[in-house]
Amino acid sequence: MSVLVYTESEKGAFKKVSLEVASYAKAVANQIGTTVTAVAINANDTSELGKYGVDKVLNVSNPQLETFNAKAYANVLKQAAEKENAKVVIVSSSADSKYLAPLLAVGLNAGFASNVVEAPSSTSPFTVKRTAFTNKAFNATTINTDVKLIAVSNNAFGLVEASGNASAEDFSPSIPEFSVHVESVDKAADKVTIADAEIVVSGGRGLKGPENWGMIEELAEVLGAATACSKPVSDLGWRPHSEHVGQTGKPVASNLYIAIGISGAIQHLAGINASKVKVVINTDAEAPFFKAADYGVVGDAFEVVPQLIEKLKAF
Ligand code: FAD
Repeated sequence: MSVLVYTESEKGAFKKVSLEVASYAKAVANQIGTTVTAVAINANDTSELGKYGVDKVLNVSNPQLETFNAKAYANVLKQAAEKENAKVVIVSSSADSKYLAPLLAVGLNAGFASNVVEAPSSTSPFTVKRTAFTNKAFNATTINTDVKLIAVSNNAFGLVEASGNASAEDFSPSIPEFSVHVESVDKAADKVTIADAEIVVSGGRGLKGPENWGMIEELAEVLGAATACSKPVSDLGWRPHSEHVGQTGKPVASNLYIAIGISGAIQHLAGINASKVKVVINTDAEAPFFKAADYGVVGDAFEVVPQLIEKLKAF
């Protein structure tokens, strides 16, 4: 019996969320008194996983699985869970895992808890803390099924280094024939993604137009941050849709979220609430974002942001 964890990779390299779910899996395994087995699909080098608590890696190498396909990947994980007799299966909260997890839960007849933010408070009964109501509240959920599936919120548990080495085993699950048409777009190599970012610098309609995003990008670069935007900004075509955050966009769970010229509508806050520290720069002291913010600057972004960049560069 082991705890099974699904590790995601991009072009063969593990994503940060994979190392985080591996860390989480180790904490669960320690509580239960068992080991962690990771499933790695078409990953180049799995030795890194040992540093985050994985004891064994099932290496799946198959050109059919080159691009993500929820049904096929869920099928692979189901077979891995059965082979390992895993009673707890752990995935991240990435976009891919959100497609995959419900299929896997059905396949394994497993109770499923999403948005989990802490290691189980108890493993008998198996109870986990989750966020609810777009991160405004927490609840404790007990899973009673024999197999339990957990999706850990990104950036909630963090990376916990361990000293172990992971053994590797080739795993060749049966994969039914399928075909998908995939168009992939390469992200700029030096850009931090919103999902992986510790810091996110986000701009809203208060920035007046796409020509003013230079200072947002510069601030993001100085901080090593990802850039994001409100929905109207991407709807207007000022920024790509991949940067749209909020209820209908990407969720953000960064350590620091800097909102510049964003009013703080409920639909925007719904997606960024999980961020640990929120900083707002807005000319309107009555903007709703100030109620959700940890720090606020009432001021013109065109004056405040250049000064902030200057100070940070001198730091
Ligand atoms: P505005 O509301 O126009 O606010 C601009 C802000 O900039 C104002 O507060 C203003 O005081 C400030 N400002 C102006 N000039 C300056 C300056 N020089 N310096 C500093 N501040 C300045 N929105 C999202 O963002 N994400 C979502 O996922 C989302 N989903 C939605 C889903 C539904 C079903 C609906 C109905 C709406 C959704 N919205 C979403 C839209 C949301 O309701 C708001 O309309 C939107 O968030 C407002 O964007 P904004 O704050 O950039 O623009």
